[in-house]
Amino acid sequence: MAVDMGIITKDNLGKLLGDLSKTRDVYAPAPGPGTGREGMEYRSFASGGKLDFAYPSTRLSSKGILFPQREVLLFFKVAEQQGAPPPDREIIIFGLRPCDAKAFTFLDTVFGGSDDTKGNPLYRKFLDPYYAERRKRTLFISLACNEPPYACFCTSVGGSPFGTEGADITAVELGDTRSEKGRLLLTARTAPGKDFLEANKSSFGSPAAPDTAMNDTLKKKAEASLKVLPVAEVKKKLDESFDDEAWEAVTVNCLGCGVCTYVCPTCHCFDITDETGNDGSGVRLRTWDSCQYPLFTKHASGHNPRVSKKQRMRQRTMHKFSYTVETAGMVSCVGCGRCVRYCPVNLDIRESVLSFAQS
Ligand code: SF4
Ligand code: SF4
Repeated sequence: MAVDMGIITKDNLGKLLGDLSKTRDVYAPAPGPGTGREGMEYRSFASGGKLDFAYPSTRLSSKGILFPQREVLLFFKVAEQQGAPPPDREIIIFGLRPCDAKAFTFLDTVFGGSDDTKGNPLYRKFLDPYYAERRKRTLFISLACNEPPYACFCTSVGGSPFGTEGADITAVELGDTRSEKGRLLLTARTAPGKDFLEANKSSFGSPAAPDTAMNDTLKKKAEASLKVLPVAEVKKKLDESFDDEAWEAVTVNCLGCGVCTYVCPTCHCFDITDETGNDGSGVRLRTWDSCQYPLFTKHASGHNPRVSKKQRMRQRTMHKFSYTVETAGMVSCVGCGRCVRYCPVNLDIRESVLSFAQS
């Protein structure tokens, strides 16, 4: 019989992932260089490492593992072309929060890599082989938010601090939240998740009734701690407000820095450039870009269809809460709260959207 639930101590999960890192690329949250806990990000996890649970949410999401901020698409020599080699190891991402796991279900509709294309044939036509190749090699082990941080609003956009979308396995801290010690309840949500638990079953104990009961209690408590805002049903109001002067008011303080797009787990705009050396060899690079920059939409003719910050802010908001409802069948904000936490002038996308929802 397939194993679909297991109990494991945090120490033992660290040992198991450390062992697996010898044959796979394993990632887990860890402090970024010189930034401490506020700069938690996903870093390679190796044998002998200790899993870190003392983070509410990472500063950068795990998006960059499958869709790197900067990647070589191909190497070339004049009159020659050679694709970048595909990764040959499987990937495990541990500790992504449920909103970030859900974000990958949206990125799948952009880049492909999942069979769930929401019925839109364009997603197959424009399959991105770089993302899709990593996607199919990746096992996602999400970690529930027992104590969601202040800026989170996943329950307002169809998610949950204990959500399961996008995760192969969900993990829940049973007590001892954010401590290195304690136990985890792991539940397989997909066939690859079940295969993982089955293949490593000697590392797991069986959950007892009090464990599953504690899981349910923690879930209820976490969900109740978040206020549900009427932001998911705002599409019609936003569409009607396209030319509204209120866009000036919600944008006036914006610096156009693009931080909100870089930290967002669902933003996916990129640029492609070729860098060449004197010998005719070079690389084609893909790097993250941002709709908040004026050059992003500037045409070679000099014309720019989004010349003002107001237009760019409107684009970002409408894209998340209106356009992807049409193209991907979902609001593409997962309520992770990063853009709220990291905007240097405290702009809050919830307030922007609500100002239209309640107008
Ligand atoms: S728009 Fe903001 S809250 Fe929504 S997913 Fe992106 S970063 Fe998170
Ligand atoms: S992070 Fe804030 S200031 Fe920077 S572009 Fe986004 S909304 Fe504007």
